[in-house]
Amino acid sequence: MVPCCHALAAGRVRNIDPYTLLSLCYFVGPWRAKYKGVVMPRPNEKDHNIPEECTDVAVNPPRTKRQGRRPKKKRIPSQGEVHHKKKRITKCGRCFGQGHNRKTCSTLI
Ligand SMILES: [Zn+2]
Repeated sequence: MVPCCHALAAGRVRNIDPYTLLSLCYFVGPWRAKYKGVVMPRPNEKDHNIPEECTDVAVNPPRTKRQGRRPKKKRIPSQGEVHHKKKRITKCGRCFGQGHNRKTCSTLI
């Protein structure tokens, strides 16, 4: 936890070291101690034994230029993913019947 400016001011009045008010997670020492055995230092690049046939080959970045087309708007569903689109029932605004709309309505009124 980091104390607010008011707590820091109150601590200054009472001669309290502001670093004693900080949580341990904000210091480097505890983090280094925690990850001491987990994160190993990287070996020097000069110590690697890379064969010449690998170092002679030029490694270029991949071609990432996009082709001249409009990008897809519709997402491709993943395997096992099913889109359940509810079928909307058309309602007529003229006769309030179902299965057709006002333009295709043939009911006599
Ligand atoms: Zn109708």
